[in-house]
Amino acid sequence: MSRNNPILYIVIPCYNEEQVLPHTNPMFVGKIEELVKNQEVHPNSKVMYVNDGSKDKTWELIQEYASSNPFVVGISQSRNRGHQSSVLAGMYEAAEFADIVITIDADGQDDIDCMNQMIAEYKSGSEIVYGVRDNRETDSAFKRITAEGFYKVMHLFGADVVFNHADYRLVSKRFLQELSKFKEVNLFLRGLMPLVGFKYSYVTYKRHERIAGESHYPLSKMLGLAMDGITSLSIKPIRLITSLGVMTSLFSFLLIIWVLWSKFAGTVVAGWASTYAIVSLLGGVQLISLGVIGEYIGKIYLETKKRPRYIISDRTYDESDE
Ligand code: UDP
Ligand code: MG
Repeated sequence: MSRNNPILYIVIPCYNEEQVLPHTNPMFVGKIEELVKNQEVHPNSKVMYVNDGSKDKTWELIQEYASSNPFVVGISQSRNRGHQSSVLAGMYEAAEFADIVITIDADGQDDIDCMNQMIAEYKSGSEIVYGVRDNRETDSAFKRITAEGFYKVMHLFGADVVFNHADYRLVSKRFLQELSKFKEVNLFLRGLMPLVGFKYSYVTYKRHERIAGESHYPLSKMLGLAMDGITSLSIKPIRLITSLGVMTSLFSFLLIIWVLWSKFAGTVVAGWASTYAIVSLLGGVQLISLGVIGEYIGKIYLETKKRPRYIISDRTYDESDE
């Protein structure tokens, strides 16, 4: 396929989005229709919804859209597997038909008009185009502070992610073929993508407010994602523990000299307060260290199981089609 008339699949993960889809589906479909009409993409281009085991009517809606509009297809995960898993499922399923895949959230927060520019970047040679938010004015102050803290902490601990880039991006089929060689089940796509390499570019946009419904990323999930991101991309925390250990050991060594000196000098040391402080401090440091190491062992445990990263239970099209 030439770079000039690519088949585009817009992949959209959806978890309990029945309130949002009636608003955003016409936007996504309209976008595909516009792109096809202007001959920016091939007429076989589609919107592909990935239902992530929703508990509401999301899948029914997707099926309805797929049967009434030739530009819409849907796949459904066998149960809720999380955002990252659904994005991955959609990208690989779409790659069977598509030359380029754009992933975007269902909630209409990311500016769909960026897609034209993303496609233009692809045509001029990029294998991946990152959508980057230029500000977070539309997010609540709390969301903004926690989200920016998220990137700072990630960088601090050695997980290189593109600042203010979520999972709104274009990837080419070639990029996906190489990405599929990364077999890890601890998925943190944002951190994984830069490791694949190739020519890349950015497109900046303003992020809107969620059109309806609620965010599925409360602080607890965001902390979980940060922890996964850091521990699946970097071993810096383990290094930090090692240096912490070295520093405490050095400090204890000096302490021992001081203790012996006091003993032989005959100064009576009451000792309780300092002993207590040191024991509790070391106890804390040890527990944290064990926790961090445990986090990595947990990751190894999950990797050795080689569980599937996604499971598709339903499709709105025949698998043997095309
Ligand atoms: N999502 C998903 N599975 C989940 C949680 C979320 O597929 O378990 C989807 C959700 O439908 C949306 C996207 O991931 O399309 C991002 O979620 P959300 O908008 O709630 O997160 P935020 O933008 O607030 O970070
Ligand atoms: Mg959102």
